[in-house]
Amino acid sequence: MKDSDTDSKDSSAGSAPANFIRNMIAQDLASNKHRGRVHTRFPPEPNGYLHIGHAKSICLNFSLAEENKGFCNLRFDDTNPAKESQEYVDAIKDNITWLGFRWNGDVRYSSSYFDHLYDFALQLIKKSLAYVCSLSPEEAREYRGTLTEPGRNSPDRDRSVQGNLDLFARMRAGEFADGEYSLRAKIDMASPNINMRDPVLYRIRHISHHQTGDTWRIYPTYDYTHCISDAIENITHSLCTLEFEDHRPLYDWILHNLDNGSLHAVSDLKESVADYVLPQQTEFAKLRLNYTMMGKRKLKEMVETGVVEGWDDPRMPTLAGMRRRGFTPAAIRHFCESVGVSRSESVVDMSMLEHAIREDLDRNAPRVMCVLNPLKVVLTNLGEGQVEHLEMANHPKDESMGKRIVPFAREIVIDKSDFEESPPPGFKRLISGGEVRLRGAYVIRCDEVVKSSDGEVKQLNCSIDPDTLGNQPAGRKVKGVIHWVSAEHGIPAKIRLYDRLFNAENPESKDIADYHEILNPDSLSELEGCLVEPSAFANGAVTQFQFEREGYFCVDEQDSTDTLPIFNRTITLRDSWSNS
Ligand code: ATP
Ligand code: MG
Repeated sequence: MKDSDTDSKDSSAGSAPANFIRNMIAQDLASNKHRGRVHTRFPPEPNGYLHIGHAKSICLNFSLAEENKGFCNLRFDDTNPAKESQEYVDAIKDNITWLGFRWNGDVRYSSSYFDHLYDFALQLIKKSLAYVCSLSPEEAREYRGTLTEPGRNSPDRDRSVQGNLDLFARMRAGEFADGEYSLRAKIDMASPNINMRDPVLYRIRHISHHQTGDTWRIYPTYDYTHCISDAIENITHSLCTLEFEDHRPLYDWILHNLDNGSLHAVSDLKESVADYVLPQQTEFAKLRLNYTMMGKRKLKEMVETGVVEGWDDPRMPTLAGMRRRGFTPAAIRHFCESVGVSRSESVVDMSMLEHAIREDLDRNAPRVMCVLNPLKVVLTNLGEGQVEHLEMANHPKDESMGKRIVPFAREIVIDKSDFEESPPPGFKRLISGGEVRLRGAYVIRCDEVVKSSDGEVKQLNCSIDPDTLGNQPAGRKVKGVIHWVSAEHGIPAKIRLYDRLFNAENPESKDIADYHEILNPDSLSELEGCLVEPSAFANGAVTQFQFEREGYFCVDEQDSTDTLPIFNRTITLRDSWSNS
C-alpha cells in the first residue's frame, strides 16, 4: 500500500480551514501575547481507551502546534487513581502514535507534579485562600446550595492558617480516613457559578497510584491540577470541550492567586519571569456522531459486561476498534479536519466519517477477488490441471500500484448471489443458459445446473468462450461482470461483517432507558469457507484490500492464524446509512 500518511498531509498542507481557535492563535501571535509561542497539550485521563471524539481534540491540538512551529505535549491527567491504569496509559500512547502524531519531549503526567501541587496548596493556605474542611461529602453537597439558592459557609472556613497547615500535613501523612477531611479553596459560597463555591482541591484516598505507587494518601482534584499542570508546562492555549466553560473562572482564580514567580520557578520556561505568561483556556464543542455511543463510562461497561469483545472490538468507536476495523489514520485525520471546530454542539453524520474512509481506501487499497459465499463452477471445456496465469491491475486508476497474477483453472467459485435460476427483471449476472463475464478473464455460458436431492443448486457446469479474454464477444451482449476465485488456488478464509452497533440514531438520548434494547442484533456476522485470491497473501505487509464488488476488508492481525486468515469488513463500497 502507498504511504497514505504522506498523501493526506501533502494535500492538506497550508489549506487548513479557518476556525475561531485558529483565528485566536493568529491574533495572539500578532499581539505577541505569548511571546510568539504556541504550546498546546492533549490531556487524557487514563481511565479508558480513546475514541473518535478524542481524535478530534488530538488533531486540533497537534495540528495547531505543528502549523505554528510550536509544541504539543501529551499529558496524562491522572488525578483519580481509582479509575486509572497503566493499560490505558499504554493504549493511549499507542493510539496517538498510530494517528501519526509525535508529542513534544517525554510523556507528562500530572502525578509527576504532585510535589509542586502540594506546595502550591500550602501557598494558598498561607494566603488564607484555602482551608481544611471537615464536612463529609454528603454534608458538603448539602452546604453547596443549588442553582437557585446560595450555599452556606463551612463551619471550618475561618480556621487559622496554622490550624489548616497542621491538618493538611496530617492529611498527607495518612492520619485520616477517606472523606474525613478535604482541602477547599476559599472563594465564594454565594457565587452564581457553583464551581466557585469553595471547590475541593484535595481529597483523602488511601489507594495506590499507577505512577506514584503508595507515596500519596491525598490526591488533588482535576480542576486544581489541570490549570497548574498547564502553567508548569508553559502551555499557551489550553483547549478543552464546552463542559469546562463554567470551570474557567476557577482555572483563572487558581493561577492568578498563586505567585507568578513561584509558578515560573517550577515551569519548563527557561526565559525570564518577564516572559512568563499564564495559559489561556478556550472551549470548543465536542464531536458527536450519530448511531455512536461516546461516553467512556458506557463504553467501559460494554467491554466489562461482554456486550462487545473488548476495547478494540471493531464495532467500537474507539481508535483501537477503528484500527482493527481497518479505518486508516489519514482518513480519521481528514475527517477530524473536515468536521471543523466551533462553539456550538452538533451531531455529525456517520456517513461523513465513512466517506473519508472510503475515499482513502479507494485510493490506496489494492484490489483482489474474494468469494464470500462460494458456488462451484466447472468450466467443462478446460482441461483438468490446466492453469492460466492472468495478469490484472492492482488498481483500476493507479498504474503505479502494479499488477498481480491470478490463477485461472477448470474449477472456480463464484458468489451464490451471482447466479439466479429465476432471475428478477434486470438481473445481469449468470442465469441458466445465459452468459456473464468473469472479471479479468473470459465470458462463460451456463450449460447445466447441478442440484442436490433437496433442490439446492450445488454446481454449475459452464463453458468458456476462448476468444473473449480481454475482448467483447462480437455480436453478443454480455453485460454482467462477476468476480471469481480458482477453487484449487483460492485460500480459505473467515470473514467478519460488521454493521452498526446501535439501531438508534442517538444511543445516548435520555429517552433510551437501557441501551441494550437498541443494540443491533446483526452488528456482527461471520462467514466461513470464503475463498480469497492467493495474491492477497503475496506481500504480508499489505493487509487492506478492496474485495472487488464486496467492499474494503483488512486482515485481523490478532485472530488470524497461519492456517486460517480472518478478514474484517472495514466498510461496504457504497453508503448504507443514508437510505436506512
Ligand atoms: P470523561 O469525562 O468521561 O472522563 P473525556 O472524554 O472527557 O471523558 P478525557 O480523557 O478527559 O476524557 O479527554 C481528553 C481530552 O479529549 C479532553 O480535553 C476532552 O475535552 C477531549 N474530548 C473528549 N471527548 C471529546 C469529544 N467527543 N470531542 C472532542 N474532544 C473530546
Ligand atoms: Mg474529561
